Amino acid sequence: MTSSVQLNTDIVVRFAPSPNGLLHLGHAYAAMVAHDFARARGGQFLLRIEDIDRGRSRDEFVTAIFDDLHWLGLDWDGDVIFQSERLDSYAQAAERLKAMGLLYPCFCSRSDMRQLQASGSQAEGPDGPVYAGTCRNMDPGLARKRVAAEPHSWRLDVAKAVTLSGPLGWRDERHGVQASDPERLGDVILVPKETPVAYHFAVTLDDARDRITHVVRGDDLFASTDIHRLLQALLDLPTPVYYHHPLLLDEKDEKLAKSRDSASLSVLRLAGRSGHKLLQDLRQGIFPVGISLSQV
Ligand code: GLU
Repeated sequence: MTSSVQLNTDIVVRFAPSPNGLLHLGHAYAAMVAHDFARARGGQFLLRIEDIDRGRSRDEFVTAIFDDLHWLGLDWDGDVIFQSERLDSYAQAAERLKAMGLLYPCFCSRSDMRQLQASGSQAEGPDGPVYAGTCRNMDPGLARKRVAAEPHSWRLDVAKAVTLSGPLGWRDERHGVQASDPERLGDVILVPKETPVAYHFAVTLDDARDRITHVVRGDDLFASTDIHRLLQALLDLPTPVYYHHPLLLDEKDEKLAKSRDSASLSVLRLAGRSGHKLLQDLRQGIFPVGISLSQV
Protein backbone atom coordinates (compact mmCIF):
# COMPACT_ATOMS: atom_id res chain seq x y z
CA MET A 1 0.00 0.00 0.00
CA THR A 2 1.58 3.33 -0.97
CA SER A 3 0.74 6.54 0.77
CA SER A 4 0.58 9.70 -1.34
CA VAL A 5 1.75 11.94 1.51
CA GLN A 6 5.28 13.34 1.36
CA LEU A 7 7.22 11.11 3.75
CA ASN A 8 10.09 11.96 5.99
CA THR A 9 12.68 9.29 5.34
CA ASP A 10 14.60 10.44 8.43
CA ILE A 11 12.06 8.43 10.42
CA VAL A 12 11.37 4.83 9.47
CA VAL A 13 9.45 2.54 11.82
CA ARG A 14 8.20 -1.00 11.29
CA PHE A 15 5.64 -3.43 12.62
CA ALA A 16 7.09 -6.94 12.42
CA PRO A 17 4.59 -9.67 13.32
CA SER A 18 5.36 -13.39 13.06
CA PRO A 19 2.58 -15.21 11.17
CA ASN A 20 2.46 -18.21 13.48
CA GLY A 21 -0.95 -17.44 14.94
CA LEU A 22 -3.75 -14.91 14.82
CA LEU A 23 -3.01 -11.38 15.99
CA HIS A 24 -4.61 -10.39 19.30
CA LEU A 25 -5.29 -7.13 21.11
CA GLY A 26 -1.65 -6.86 22.18
CA HIS A 27 -0.63 -6.81 18.52
CA ALA A 28 -3.26 -4.19 17.72
CA TYR A 29 -1.78 -2.06 20.49
CA ALA A 30 1.81 -2.66 19.25
CA ALA A 31 0.90 -1.90 15.64
CA MET A 32 -0.93 1.26 16.72
CA VAL A 33 1.99 2.54 18.81
CA ALA A 34 4.49 1.94 15.99
CA HIS A 35 2.17 3.38 13.33
CA ASP A 36 1.33 6.48 15.35
CA PHE A 37 4.99 6.99 16.30
CA ALA A 38 5.89 7.15 12.60
CA ARG A 39 2.91 9.19 11.46
CA ALA A 40 3.19 11.78 14.25
CA ARG A 41 6.70 12.52 12.96
CA GLY A 42 5.74 12.39 9.26
CA GLY A 43 7.79 9.19 8.96
CA GLN A 44 7.41 5.91 7.13
CA PHE A 45 5.67 2.89 8.57
CA LEU A 46 6.75 -0.46 7.13
CA LEU A 47 5.23 -3.92 7.50
CA ARG A 48 7.66 -6.80 7.78
CA ILE A 49 6.36 -10.35 8.04
CA GLU A 50 8.76 -12.37 10.18
CA ASP A 51 8.09 -15.74 8.58
CA ILE A 52 11.47 -17.39 9.06
CA ASP A 53 10.03 -20.35 10.92
CA ARG A 54 8.50 -22.22 7.96
CA GLY A 55 7.21 -24.94 10.25
CA ARG A 56 5.04 -22.55 12.23
CA SER A 57 4.28 -19.79 9.70
CA ARG A 58 1.05 -20.14 7.72
CA ASP A 59 -0.21 -18.23 4.68
CA GLU A 60 -3.63 -17.85 6.28
CA PHE A 61 -2.06 -16.02 9.23
CA VAL A 62 -0.31 -13.65 6.79
CA THR A 63 -3.64 -12.93 5.10
CA ALA A 64 -5.25 -12.39 8.52
CA ILE A 65 -2.51 -9.86 9.42
CA PHE A 66 -3.30 -7.81 6.30
CA ASP A 67 -7.04 -8.03 6.96
CA ASP A 68 -6.65 -7.12 10.64
CA LEU A 69 -4.49 -4.07 9.88
CA HIS A 70 -6.93 -2.86 7.21
CA TRP A 71 -9.80 -3.40 9.64
CA LEU A 72 -7.99 -1.36 12.29
CA GLY A 73 -7.35 1.38 9.72
CA LEU A 74 -3.56 1.12 9.95
CA ASP A 75 -1.88 1.63 6.58
CA TRP A 76 1.75 0.93 5.77
CA ASP A 77 4.14 2.28 3.15
CA GLY A 78 5.68 0.42 0.24
CA ASP A 79 5.65 -3.31 -0.36
CA VAL A 80 5.28 -5.79 2.45
CA ILE A 81 8.67 -7.29 3.38
CA PHE A 82 8.95 -11.05 3.92
CA GLN A 83 11.91 -12.44 5.85
CA SER A 84 11.52 -15.77 4.04
CA GLU A 85 12.74 -14.01 0.88
CA ARG A 86 15.98 -12.95 2.52
CA LEU A 87 17.48 -16.23 3.67
CA ASP A 88 20.66 -15.75 1.60
CA SER A 89 21.51 -12.52 3.40
CA TYR A 90 21.22 -14.22 6.80
CA ALA A 91 23.45 -17.09 5.66
CA GLN A 92 26.06 -14.60 4.39
CA ALA A 93 26.10 -12.72 7.67
CA ALA A 94 26.47 -16.00 9.56
CA GLU A 95 29.50 -16.89 7.41
CA ARG A 96 30.99 -13.51 8.26
CA LEU A 97 30.64 -14.13 12.00
CA LYS A 98 32.03 -17.64 11.59
CA ALA A 99 35.07 -16.25 9.77
CA MET A 100 35.54 -13.89 12.73
CA GLY A 101 35.57 -16.94 15.02
CA LEU A 102 32.49 -15.74 16.88
CA LEU A 103 30.08 -18.63 16.20
CA TYR A 104 30.46 -22.16 17.43
CA PRO A 105 28.41 -25.24 16.60
CA CYS A 106 26.16 -26.58 19.34
CA PHE A 107 25.01 -30.19 19.29
CA CYS A 108 22.94 -30.11 22.45
CA SER A 109 19.56 -31.70 21.89
CA ARG A 110 16.32 -30.62 23.52
CA SER A 111 16.69 -33.37 26.10
CA ASP A 112 20.30 -32.27 26.82
CA MET A 113 18.93 -28.80 27.44
CA ARG A 114 16.18 -30.13 29.71
CA GLN A 115 18.78 -32.07 31.69
CA LEU A 116 21.03 -29.03 32.00
CA GLN A 117 18.05 -27.07 33.24
CA ALA A 118 17.00 -29.75 35.71
CA SER A 119 20.55 -30.04 37.05
CA GLY A 120 20.44 -26.35 37.92
CA SER A 121 23.63 -25.69 35.96
CA GLN A 122 22.00 -23.00 33.84
CA ALA A 123 21.55 -19.52 35.25
CA GLU A 124 18.20 -17.83 34.71
CA GLY A 125 18.48 -14.86 32.34
CA PRO A 126 15.96 -12.18 31.43
CA ASP A 127 14.80 -14.33 28.49
CA GLY A 128 14.86 -17.74 30.16
CA PRO A 129 17.69 -20.15 31.01
CA VAL A 130 21.19 -19.08 29.97
CA TYR A 131 23.07 -21.72 27.99
CA ALA A 132 25.76 -23.31 30.16
CA GLY A 133 28.32 -23.35 27.32
CA THR A 134 28.66 -27.14 26.98
CA CYS A 135 29.77 -27.02 23.32
CA ARG A 136 31.76 -23.77 23.53
CA ASN A 137 35.22 -25.18 24.00
CA MET A 138 34.99 -28.35 21.95
CA ASP A 139 38.16 -29.46 20.23
CA PRO A 140 38.03 -27.78 16.76
CA GLY A 141 38.84 -31.04 14.92
CA LEU A 142 36.04 -32.87 16.69
CA ALA A 143 33.64 -29.96 16.14
CA ARG A 144 34.38 -30.04 12.37
CA LYS A 145 33.75 -33.78 12.20
CA ARG A 146 30.52 -33.49 14.11
CA VAL A 147 29.34 -30.53 11.98
CA ALA A 148 29.67 -32.73 8.91
CA ALA A 149 27.74 -35.58 10.49
CA GLU A 150 25.20 -34.24 12.98
CA PRO A 151 22.42 -31.69 13.13
CA HIS A 152 23.64 -28.59 14.96
CA SER A 153 22.86 -24.96 15.66
CA TRP A 154 25.33 -22.05 15.71
CA ARG A 155 25.71 -20.00 18.86
CA LEU A 156 27.29 -16.61 19.34
CA ASP A 157 30.27 -16.66 21.69
CA VAL A 158 29.05 -13.61 23.55
CA ALA A 159 32.04 -13.19 25.88
CA LYS A 160 34.44 -13.27 22.94
CA ALA A 161 32.22 -10.92 20.95
CA VAL A 162 32.10 -8.46 23.84
CA THR A 163 35.89 -8.49 24.09
CA LEU A 164 35.95 -7.48 20.44
CA SER A 165 33.19 -4.86 20.58
CA GLY A 166 34.11 -3.21 23.88
CA PRO A 167 31.40 -1.55 25.99
CA LEU A 168 28.22 -0.70 24.13
CA GLY A 169 25.05 1.20 24.79
CA TRP A 170 21.82 2.21 23.13
CA ARG A 171 19.09 4.76 23.64
CA ASP A 172 15.46 4.11 24.39
CA GLU A 173 13.10 7.05 24.03
CA ARG A 174 11.01 5.81 26.93
CA HIS A 175 13.54 4.19 29.24
CA GLY A 176 16.59 6.36 28.63
CA VAL A 177 20.19 5.49 27.78
CA GLN A 178 21.12 1.84 28.42
CA ALA A 179 24.50 0.21 28.98
CA SER A 180 24.48 -3.15 27.17
CA ASP A 181 25.01 -6.33 29.13
CA PRO A 182 24.51 -9.05 26.50
CA GLU A 183 26.28 -11.66 28.61
CA ARG A 184 23.24 -11.98 30.85
CA LEU A 185 21.43 -13.58 27.89
CA GLY A 186 24.30 -16.02 27.30
CA ASP A 187 25.43 -17.57 24.03
CA VAL A 188 22.23 -17.15 22.06
CA ILE A 189 21.54 -19.28 19.00
CA LEU A 190 21.81 -17.30 15.76
CA VAL A 191 21.34 -20.21 13.36
CA PRO A 192 19.02 -22.85 14.82
CA LYS A 193 19.06 -26.50 13.92
CA GLU A 194 15.50 -26.50 12.63
CA THR A 195 15.08 -23.08 10.97
CA PRO A 196 17.36 -21.02 8.71
CA VAL A 197 17.89 -18.13 11.14
CA ALA A 198 16.98 -17.09 14.67
CA TYR A 199 14.90 -14.06 15.62
CA HIS A 200 17.80 -12.05 17.12
CA PHE A 201 19.88 -12.35 13.99
CA ALA A 202 17.20 -11.77 11.35
CA VAL A 203 15.65 -8.82 13.16
CA THR A 204 19.00 -7.04 13.58
CA LEU A 205 20.04 -7.58 9.97
CA ASP A 206 16.64 -6.51 8.65
CA ASP A 207 16.28 -3.42 10.78
CA ALA A 208 19.57 -2.27 9.21
CA ARG A 209 18.59 -3.37 5.70
CA ASP A 210 15.22 -1.64 5.95
CA ARG A 211 16.91 1.53 7.30
CA ILE A 212 14.76 1.47 10.41
CA THR A 213 15.61 4.58 12.42
CA HIS A 214 13.31 3.85 15.37
CA VAL A 215 12.59 0.32 16.57
CA VAL A 216 9.20 0.56 18.26
CA ARG A 217 8.20 -2.71 19.98
CA GLY A 218 7.03 -4.14 23.26
CA ASP A 219 8.86 -4.16 26.58
CA ASP A 220 9.03 -7.99 26.32
CA LEU A 221 11.88 -7.51 23.82
CA PHE A 222 13.75 -4.93 25.91
CA ALA A 223 16.46 -7.34 27.15
CA SER A 224 17.00 -8.74 23.64
CA THR A 225 18.18 -5.35 22.49
CA ASP A 226 21.56 -5.88 24.20
CA ILE A 227 22.19 -8.80 21.83
CA HIS A 228 20.96 -6.80 18.84
CA ARG A 229 23.28 -3.94 19.77
CA LEU A 230 26.20 -6.36 20.00
CA LEU A 231 25.42 -7.80 16.55
CA GLN A 232 25.26 -4.29 15.12
CA ALA A 233 28.73 -3.55 16.47
CA LEU A 234 30.16 -6.83 15.12
CA LEU A 235 28.69 -6.37 11.65
CA ASP A 236 29.18 -2.58 11.32
CA LEU A 237 25.45 -1.90 11.23
CA PRO A 238 23.83 1.36 12.35
CA THR A 239 22.12 1.46 15.75
CA PRO A 240 18.54 2.74 15.66
CA VAL A 241 16.84 4.54 18.49
CA TYR A 242 14.54 2.22 20.45
CA TYR A 243 11.12 2.76 21.96
CA HIS A 244 9.90 -0.18 24.02
CA HIS A 245 6.25 0.30 24.83
CA PRO A 246 4.20 -1.18 27.70
CA LEU A 247 2.31 -4.43 27.12
CA LEU A 248 -1.34 -5.33 27.42
CA LEU A 249 -1.88 -7.73 30.31
CA ASP A 250 -4.72 -10.14 31.06
CA GLU A 251 -6.60 -10.65 34.36
CA LYS A 252 -3.64 -12.56 35.78
CA ASP A 253 -1.28 -9.74 34.84
CA GLU A 254 0.28 -11.93 32.18
CA LYS A 255 1.11 -10.70 28.73
CA LEU A 256 -1.44 -11.64 26.08
CA ALA A 257 -0.15 -14.49 23.96
CA LYS A 258 -1.20 -16.23 20.77
CA SER A 259 -0.75 -19.56 22.49
CA ARG A 260 -3.07 -18.56 25.32
CA ASP A 261 -6.06 -18.04 23.04
CA SER A 262 -6.21 -14.35 23.84
CA ALA A 263 -9.15 -12.92 21.93
CA SER A 264 -7.93 -12.67 18.38
CA LEU A 265 -8.59 -9.65 16.21
CA SER A 266 -10.03 -11.91 13.50
CA VAL A 267 -12.77 -13.09 15.86
CA LEU A 268 -13.73 -9.49 16.64
CA ARG A 269 -13.48 -8.51 12.97
CA LEU A 270 -15.61 -11.41 11.76
CA ALA A 271 -18.15 -10.72 14.53
CA GLY A 272 -18.72 -7.32 12.93
CA ARG A 273 -17.01 -5.21 15.56
CA SER A 274 -15.52 -1.90 14.41
CA GLY A 275 -11.73 -1.95 14.15
CA HIS A 276 -11.64 1.84 13.99
CA LYS A 277 -13.52 2.11 17.28
CA LEU A 278 -11.23 -0.48 18.87
CA LEU A 279 -8.17 1.47 17.77
CA GLN A 280 -9.68 4.72 19.01
CA ASP A 281 -10.23 3.10 22.41
CA LEU A 282 -6.69 1.71 22.54
CA ARG A 283 -5.34 5.17 21.70
CA GLN A 284 -7.29 6.61 24.61
CA GLY A 285 -6.21 3.90 27.02
CA ILE A 286 -9.68 2.34 27.11
CA PHE A 287 -9.24 -1.44 27.27
CA PRO A 288 -11.74 -4.31 27.36
CA VAL A 289 -12.68 -5.65 30.80
CA GLY A 290 -9.80 -7.54 32.41
CA ILE A 291 -7.13 -6.02 30.15
CA SER A 292 -4.66 -3.49 31.51
CA LEU A 293 -1.38 -1.88 30.52
CA SER A 294 1.87 -2.97 32.14
CA GLN A 295 3.75 -0.52 34.33
CA VAL A 296 7.30 0.53 33.47
N1 GLU B 1 8.48 -10.82 15.17
C1 GLU B 1 8.53 -10.47 16.55
C2 GLU B 1 7.24 -10.89 17.22
O1 GLU B 1 6.24 -11.11 16.54
C3 GLU B 1 8.71 -8.99 16.83
C4 GLU B 1 10.00 -8.48 16.34
C5 GLU B 1 10.40 -7.10 16.84
O2 GLU B 1 9.54 -6.22 16.92
O3 GLU B 1 11.58 -6.93 17.10
O4 GLU B 1 7.23 -10.99 18.42
